[in-house]
Amino acid sequence: MISAANPFLSPSTLPYQLPPFEEIEEEHYGPAFEQGMAEHLAEIEAIADDPAPPTFENTIEALERSGRLLDRVSAVFFNKASSDTTPGIQAIQKDVTPKLTQHADAIHLNPRLFARIRAVEPADDEQRWLLERYLTDFVRAGAELGPDDQERLRAINERLSTLGTTFQQNLLADTNARAVVVDDAAELEGLSEDAVNGLAETARERGLDGRYLITLVLPTGQPSLAELANRSLRRRVHEASAGRGADNAELIKEMAGLRRERARLLGYGSHAEYVLADQTAGTTAAVTEMLDRLVPPAVANARKEQADLEEVAGHAVQPWDWSFYAEKVRRARYDIDSAQMRPYFELNTVLEKGVFHAATRLYGVTFTERPDLRAYHPEARVFEVADEDGGPLGLYIGDFHARASKRGGAWMNSLVKQSALEGTKPVVVNNLNIVKGEPTLMTFDEVNTMFHEFGHALHGLFSDVRYPRFSGTAVPRDFVEYPSQVNEMWATHPEILANYARHHETGEPMPQDLVDRMLETQKFNQGFATVEYLAATLLDWAWHTAYEGEDVAEFEARALRDAGVDLPAVPPRYRSTYFAHIWAGGYSAGYYSYIWSEVLDADTVEWFNENGGLRRENGDRFRRDLLSRGGSVDAMTAFRAFRGRDPEITPLLTRRGLL
Ligand SMILES: [Zn+2]
Repeated sequence: MISAANPFLSPSTLPYQLPPFEEIEEEHYGPAFEQGMAEHLAEIEAIADDPAPPTFENTIEALERSGRLLDRVSAVFFNKASSDTTPGIQAIQKDVTPKLTQHADAIHLNPRLFARIRAVEPADDEQRWLLERYLTDFVRAGAELGPDDQERLRAINERLSTLGTTFQQNLLADTNARAVVVDDAAELEGLSEDAVNGLAETARERGLDGRYLITLVLPTGQPSLAELANRSLRRRVHEASAGRGADNAELIKEMAGLRRERARLLGYGSHAEYVLADQTAGTTAAVTEMLDRLVPPAVANARKEQADLEEVAGHAVQPWDWSFYAEKVRRARYDIDSAQMRPYFELNTVLEKGVFHAATRLYGVTFTERPDLRAYHPEARVFEVADEDGGPLGLYIGDFHARASKRGGAWMNSLVKQSALEGTKPVVVNNLNIVKGEPTLMTFDEVNTMFHEFGHALHGLFSDVRYPRFSGTAVPRDFVEYPSQVNEMWATHPEILANYARHHETGEPMPQDLVDRMLETQKFNQGFATVEYLAATLLDWAWHTAYEGEDVAEFEARALRDAGVDLPAVPPRYRSTYFAHIWAGGYSAGYYSYIWSEVLDADTVEWFNENGGLRRENGDRFRRDLLSRGGSVDAMTAFRAFRGRDPEITPLLTRRGLL
């Protein structure tokens, strides 16, 4: 039974319905989930059994209004599970995820409800589009299957959700366990004094006083490899990273098999076919065709880069050598290294004078920190976002630092969805994994990630739709990265860069020749970056088009070889056993999305540049045609409305040096 004091029971009374984090305790989640699912099912039953003939209002709109308690607890819980987990949270997650899957199936496989949805007559285009989304969701979830197939589908879904949670928890534990302990500071030659102090502090926090701890970030490539001069330590770091997730091998074999079985039940040849049917790409052939076009020139570029590195190294380059020698070549060619740039990228200055400032210039919005509003962790900061006229827009929570309780990577999620139907304004969160320092100085990659995630945040904050189903980032997977990638363009825009890239001690702007050289180096090492990304994409693709039960390591090696991306010095950005995007992150048969969206991104960057760049009119147009629409219109229709034509691929090929 749920206690009357459970803070999830009623909508939050805090500004913007910010969840009352100070009142939420671990023991509140379980009962709130139970009650939330029970209430939601009762609402669904009432809709399905309504004696009145089905109408848009009593069926579709009623569905849109249902499940609010479950939404409230889910948003807070899954944010917490990603960003600040505990053994207690992990136990709840294991218990609740399969139940949530059963719950979703109980709705999608309710024949009386499905019959009513099918009988609804829409009154206008918006209603027609929402109804169509509902029908698609239900059919894709198995609403048209016979009872036996539906029974099997329920079992598959439940098992998959349990396996996904186990994958994520295994990976977090293994990533922490494989952090590399260094006994002697002499081994750390090449790192700055601040960086060495940071590793000592991290070691202290984990009870390893007097030693140094190199923690692992999610991708295969580890940032310290660019700087560590000690080759055997570099090798240890790389092998710790690339060996992650051995516990996950059996689990992903099972997941791939279950996904294939589910796709076949639903009438598709493979999981990839099933996924693609509901994406802007439309078919697996469209994706394969694009990948085939990109791989040969990208591999040729990487081979050329490798030859340059080997000339400097004087020996064959291994994966643990690549970024070290790339850094040397970068220094020789552009007279620049990342240590020179970091002092100009202090986290708070980048956030306020860079990320926020760009949004103010483009969209007129302003940001005010609200220390009176508490988030879920002391490091997570709450900002109120106001429109140009001062009207309230939403809340932005920034949680930028790495910690052992946070999963790797960077992401955006929303705690409250904007919806005119519900009268709610958005509350969105950005999570990054920047190692804390005094002060926190970032690499340019991290700066870029901050702009990227903020692009997702804007997609949530500018949402101006009626129905929750359409809110913010509720667009196809292969479209959702597009607005966030576009926002990266402001990180290197001369006026924005000049505003935020200031020395943390002197306040001096970054010298112009350093800026020029930094921008010049953005084109450097693109062969490597493209190939490591494509290798991961092709792995994802192989797992979801061609896997038939083989051994994981053999399958992975063969998939990379067959796709022509098996360069020993350029391992995939993620290997199968720690590829969280595809096993626990919703990107299965979807990792291609990043480069697919980048076509739209590069084409849009060109539009901004043709139209005077950083101007309010340009921001307003992008906001009106794209960011505000969420999923309320067909994604490519929104793109065409903004761009005035279909996307063109040439800007992407030029940017990546693939022409
Ligand atoms: Zn993103």
